[in-house]
Amino acid sequence: MKKIITIGEILVEIMATEPGDGFLEAISLVGPFPSGAPAIFIDQVAKLGQPCGMIACVGDDDFGRVNLDRLAGDGVDTSAIVTHPELPTGSAFVRYRPDGSRHFVFNIRHSAAGATGATPEAERLIEGADHLHVMGSSLSTPAIVELALSAADRIHARGGSVSFDPNLRPSVLATPGTRETMDRVLARTDLFLPSGPELFLFSGAATEGDAVAELLGRGIRAIVVKDGAEGARFHAEGALVSAPAYPVEEIDPTGAGDTFAGTFVTLWLRGATPAEALRLANASGALAVTRRGPMEGTSTRSELDAFLGAHA
Ligand code: ADP
Repeated sequence: MKKIITIGEILVEIMATEPGDGFLEAISLVGPFPSGAPAIFIDQVAKLGQPCGMIACVGDDDFGRVNLDRLAGDGVDTSAIVTHPELPTGSAFVRYRPDGSRHFVFNIRHSAAGATGATPEAERLIEGADHLHVMGSSLSTPAIVELALSAADRIHARGGSVSFDPNLRPSVLATPGTRETMDRVLARTDLFLPSGPELFLFSGAATEGDAVAELLGRGIRAIVVKDGAEGARFHAEGALVSAPAYPVEEIDPTGAGDTFAGTFVTLWLRGATPAEALRLANASGALAVTRRGPMEGTSTRSELDAFLGAHA
């Protein structure tokens, strides 16, 4: 079986138990929940039984340990997750507002995640990998960017593949250098997984069809557009497959795109048809939004099959 790896941030999320407008009063909190977009992605891959590993850096603290225990327990190769002796594991506090939007307080910028870089353990993981998944949100330092690009080149040179989920807000794309970095990753991407609006951040086109044609013309083999409660669409040269989302009650949308991508990439590498990969990935995303906590949304194959059986 092909080994999938990813590089990036690990953090914890701590959530307010009741909706409200922020953290300006004493409120009840629940957590810490393991989190970080690439960590959620790789946990989903592990839950499907695929060999996988992660290159990351956590603090020498309980927030780091809670993540390491969860990832290792679910089957992720954590040999390239380094423990930093001084910097803390990052955290995010989140409270839902009454209108369903989210208020965040982040403590990530100066956390151990920023110290992720090349180590002998990372080199070993890259040498044994068949597929690299890159998330735009992880490319926060020059060291991480260079490590991701060199991993992509080395995995390609051995006949492997690369997927890319931009996971970016437009405001981040406006940061100097970000677009050039994303273009360098896109030039190495086989499977691209943007959300609906993100597709247009990377193309001047006005319609999804034109944007897809432009990106396929740049050498990307397949594009999966994630469209929230609308489901998802797969595009490749001469192929378009749409799959509706499953109707569920949304409790917590954080991590839906990462679990969707973990399932789609795993199924794609196993040779599933686009329709089958979309069916299971939509089930993953739907199950994720029904659970509180970002990584709590990852699912095993039997959980996905049970969900699909109930929604046949
Ligand atoms: P991202 O988190 O990257 O923005 P989306 O919000 O598009 O990604 O969610 C990813 C996938 O999760 C969707 O394509 C869909 O399959 C599923 N999903 C997300 N929100 C819902 C929802 N409210 N109901 C059902 N499925 C959902």
